[in-house]
Amino acid sequence: MTLDPAVLAGLREDARAQLPEVAALRHALHRVPEIGLDLPRTQALVLEALAPLDLEVSTGTGLSSVVAVLRGARPGPAVLLRGDMDALPVTEDTGEAFSSEHAGTMHACGHDLHVAGLVGAARLLAARRDQIAGSVVLMFQPGEEGDHGARIMIEEGVLDAAGERVVAAYGLHVVSSMIPSGLVTTRPGTMLAAADTVHVTVHGRGGHGSMPHLALDPVPVAAEIVLALQAMVTRQFDVFDPVVVTVGRIDAGTTDNVIPGSARIEATVRSFSEVAHGVVPERFTRVCEGVAAAHGLTVTVDYQRGYPVTVNTPAEVDRAAALTTAMLGEGAYLPAPQPLSGAEDFSYVLQEVPGTYLGLGATPADLDPRTAPYNHSAQARYDDGALAVGPAVLAALALDRLAEAAG
Ligand SMILES: [Zn+2]
Repeated sequence: MTLDPAVLAGLREDARAQLPEVAALRHALHRVPEIGLDLPRTQALVLEALAPLDLEVSTGTGLSSVVAVLRGARPGPAVLLRGDMDALPVTEDTGEAFSSEHAGTMHACGHDLHVAGLVGAARLLAARRDQIAGSVVLMFQPGEEGDHGARIMIEEGVLDAAGERVVAAYGLHVVSSMIPSGLVTTRPGTMLAAADTVHVTVHGRGGHGSMPHLALDPVPVAAEIVLALQAMVTRQFDVFDPVVVTVGRIDAGTTDNVIPGSARIEATVRSFSEVAHGVVPERFTRVCEGVAAAHGLTVTVDYQRGYPVTVNTPAEVDRAAALTTAMLGEGAYLPAPQPLSGAEDFSYVLQEVPGTYLGLGATPADLDPRTAPYNHSAQARYDDGALAVGPAVLAALALDRLAEAAG
């Protein structure tokens, strides 16, 4: 940590002072949630909020992203701060005064806080431009919920938006339960899982339920595949580098006495290292093909590799821990004992440059963190008070990394 404690105290105070405006932006975003890669209303709100800050602003071509470059008073390297912008296909059931105005769409994962929080960080940094040697790239990203928005933004050049490759990248995610509001958590190394999706079709031959020997029944083969996949998990992967396979959907047939022509299995596969993520598709496919072949059937395995493992740079985790503790007090930083089994496309950014991803508690004060509805729930509520912390932490990370480079 390079920053002076007085700088951190100033950030904390200014973040608190601007909370009403940042929370108002969050509420405006929350009312008009949008899903996927094309978020025109969200983008318009971001552009409007950034307009007074004297930034170099550009928008995406393959998605409605916003990239804003804040130039410091003196030359230096560039760092990146990221906020994802998209909502989920959920019908809100929170009773909040600023609830979604669009049934079937909700900011159930708190990305409205990420957008407003990144605008808040931009305001804090813009007010300190004379102290900055270098640039800060602000990455407002659509399509986190499965659409690989971060990868598209990397392809469109976000990591080089300042004219050179950023030397570090930081992002954070709010959680509506588990962690009290305002506490920051992360860990060195693997922070989040890789998540893949697999669709398996077992091809048999239909027939009369009384004469299975004249058919090729896909149902027992599908059942055997489900169990064989669990044996694969425990027999082919290191218990200290685990893999999770969940078959969430299995579908075959129309009635009790007809053997169907095919069966379908849908699974999610989570892994926590690039090693495991690298080998699991081949092993998964081998199990499906082998079990089917043993019974004279065939399978089609459509294995979709999802987001990679999110891996934090240890030195950047140390920076986040030191800054959080110095700025917010002892106990404000919670070292995460283990990774989370969720996945995140900020992983693509951290594959390219050093950095860290943080969790930020946003459990409302009237709820117990142990039982409050979690992210993605129709009842998930988020404490605005986290917006007095998140922007200060992001701004501090950027300032500290640039101050370190300036010596
Ligand atoms: Zn999320």
